[in-house]
Amino acid sequence: MKEFNVIEDFFKAKSIQRKDVIIGIGDDGAVTRIPQGQALVTTTDTLLSGVHFLADTPPHAIAQKAIAVNLSDLAAMGAEPAWISLSLSLPTIDTDWLEAFSNGLQESAIYYSVQLIGGDTVQGPLSITITAQGFVPFEQALTRSKAKPGDSVYVTGTLGDAGLGLHIAQKKHVLDDLTHQSFLLNRLNYPTPRLLVGTSLRRIASSCIDISDGLVSDIKHILKASQCGATIHVDKLPMSRALKESVAYSQAIDYSLSAGDDYELLFTVSEEQKGYLETTLANANVHATYIGHLTGNVGKLELRLADKPYEYNAKGYEHF
Ligand SMILES: [Mg+2]
Repeated sequence: MKEFNVIEDFFKAKSIQRKDVIIGIGDDGAVTRIPQGQALVTTTDTLLSGVHFLADTPPHAIAQKAIAVNLSDLAAMGAEPAWISLSLSLPTIDTDWLEAFSNGLQESAIYYSVQLIGGDTVQGPLSITITAQGFVPFEQALTRSKAKPGDSVYVTGTLGDAGLGLHIAQKKHVLDDLTHQSFLLNRLNYPTPRLLVGTSLRRIASSCIDISDGLVSDIKHILKASQCGATIHVDKLPMSRALKESVAYSQAIDYSLSAGDDYELLFTVSEEQKGYLETTLANANVHATYIGHLTGNVGKLELRLADKPYEYNAKGYEHF
């Protein structure tokens, strides 16, 4: 492993150059500049083979997903991404794999304008850890803790696609419609961090989180941090045509509530900010769906379908 420096050899030449990076890859540490009036937001996520992605996932997709899940956390904080660091654990030095992986990483880095500023490689089971850093104006970071009863709950995009995509990838579910199949697999392998929504929500949302573990699990973090409850109307959950046309409605609901890996944003908005929200989303050309509201019933998540209580079976969805 020590014969050559993987980070320098495979990643340095491909890295984009941001003006706020004074010293990048190649020294003992990176030196960077934070813009005036901005706070630094840092987040880390690890993707472990066999746990967070299937072992046969193309390295290009693994790289892009590793970046996306980290940028999704920055989006949930209302931050604008700037830099990433990479820690790679590899069973062997497979140059073809590294070539494809570093190409995928570079494409995403260019697209999101983030610079790889450092990294490290060790020998071990395949695992990718990325640390992402970004900026948010002082006092404007979106958090989980400032929501209040009465606030409306919204989600971006559609839910449940990645969950069904995983079952398709695992051959637990077979689809005849190849267009739907490739859409759902793409939603699993190439999630979209909702960065523009995140930054647009600064000073508008009372709380925000990204949906990585499933709506039911993730909204509970907001309920706990903000000491609230919530009523969610499952018939309002945004679902793609691919999901709705591929499984029964009750299954589609299960995927949407609990499958996770969607990397959409869930956020809350007070009554006073709702008008402002609509203008902001329209100006940014992004869509979010109203799915319910917060209540004073601390810690309680109430699901309703057609205005009746909805019995949610948490075992409806199984991960790996
Ligand atoms: Mg998160």
